[in-house]
Amino acid sequence: MLKNLKYLRIIDPDPTSLILEKIRIADELFTDWGDYFLKDKKFLENLKNYEEAIKKSNKIMNELGTFEECYLCSAVENAGCCKIGLENEVTINILLINMFFKVEIPKNRDVPGKCFFVGPTGCKIFARPYLCREYFCNRLLRLFSPEEYALITQTISEELTLLYLINRYIRNELEFLLGEFLLELDITGYS
Ligand code: SF4
Ligand code: SF4
Repeated sequence: MLKNLKYLRIIDPDPTSLILEKIRIADELFTDWGDYFLKDKKFLENLKNYEEAIKKSNKIMNELGTFEECYLCSAVENAGCCKIGLENEVTINILLINMFFKVEIPKNRDVPGKCFFVGPTGCKIFARPYLCREYFCNRLLRLFSPEEYALITQTISEELTLLYLINRYIRNELEFLLGEFLLELDITGYS
């Protein structure tokens, strides 16, 4: 497995092969260590708090109309910002977290020219990378009053702080278990 992780340092920077390799490694880690984490009360508590934080952010974004606006922009006007290559903002750790949430990880890119994780109704993963949660463009900013903007940015900050803490926890545990420095778990790999 460690040999596979090192492969990320030399892999061809084709975005699809990179994300497929990250998915394969996350899958392997989940198979080998999933049960270990799922017996860990502290991890489960962190995961629950993070799940609640995502749901809270999603609820506010839904109420403020951002999902609808992004759907119009992406699916109806064929614009949108979930472009090909951005899937590699999804790190091995974020893939692992989605596996803990029992999210089905796609095997292929459904929409040519778009992010690997774009599906018919938007993003297919539940735990999303930092960039994908702090994405407010000018078109969206026009939807918010200053108070609403403050509310949504504060809520998303809380979500992303929990994501950072879970990422760090998983990496620390795996480094302890495997006895190696595992920077690859948290890097995008294409920048
Ligand atoms: S964030 Fe802005 S550019 Fe991206 S899909 Fe939504 S409305 Fe379009
Ligand atoms: S929100 Fe989802 S579909 Fe869009 S770029 Fe991020 S991971 Fe890809």
